Amino acid sequence: MTYAIETPPVVALPIAGSDATFPVRRVYCIGRNYAAHAIEMGHDPDREPPFFFQKNPDNLDPSGEFPYPPQTSDVHHEAEIAVMLKTGGTNIAVENALDHVFGYALALDMTRRDLQGVAKKMGRPWEIGKAFERSAPVGPIHPVAEVGHPSEGRIALAVNGELRQEGDLNQMIWKVPEMIAYLSEYFELAPGDVILSGTPSGVGPVEKGDEMVLSAEGLGELKVTVV
Ligand code: MN
Repeated sequence: MTYAIETPPVVALPIAGSDATFPVRRVYCIGRNYAAHAIEMGHDPDREPPFFFQKNPDNLDPSGEFPYPPQTSDVHHEAEIAVMLKTGGTNIAVENALDHVFGYALALDMTRRDLQGVAKKMGRPWEIGKAFERSAPVGPIHPVAEVGHPSEGRIALAVNGELRQEGDLNQMIWKVPEMIAYLSEYFELAPGDVILSGTPSGVGPVEKGDEMVLSAEGLGELKVTVV
């Protein structure tokens, strides 16, 4: 097989304690998955059906640097954990969903909040606010064999040493197995798929030069500098 143009690189993420990398296929992100964050964004935190948007595989960036993006003056941090799938399928049962997980990583769902706000107001898609270059800084993947399935414990984000976001993984409205089961009813999940699991309250803007430090129970720390 020859390709007519230069082939795009496979996005491959580092795995803690391994020389192997994790190839990314798709990136799904859940919206408003912690009640306190839904409230701060002006929404009812009741358990409505979940909703998802997508980022692009090459938006995931393990470099530790986040370039301030163009066409915005209000970029927000959203501290999250990412779920990496090793297998997939359709109509996956909640009880079996965790069998598909390869591992977990710290991740930031960086958001051009001003552009997302316009999109929301006009009933337009969110990509312009969410799926821009290097919009998802991500830490090394911790395999399930090492860390199990983190479902409770502190998740926090500090900017320049000041605590901005704090929550507990057990506050997710839709739990990881439920997100996998739900997505698999609408899409065929497959090895390499990544799910960002939502953010606790306290989202806010960053500026060039800021240092963000994200942490979550069992997944260590991720330092990302805004450049
Ligand atoms: Mn998010």
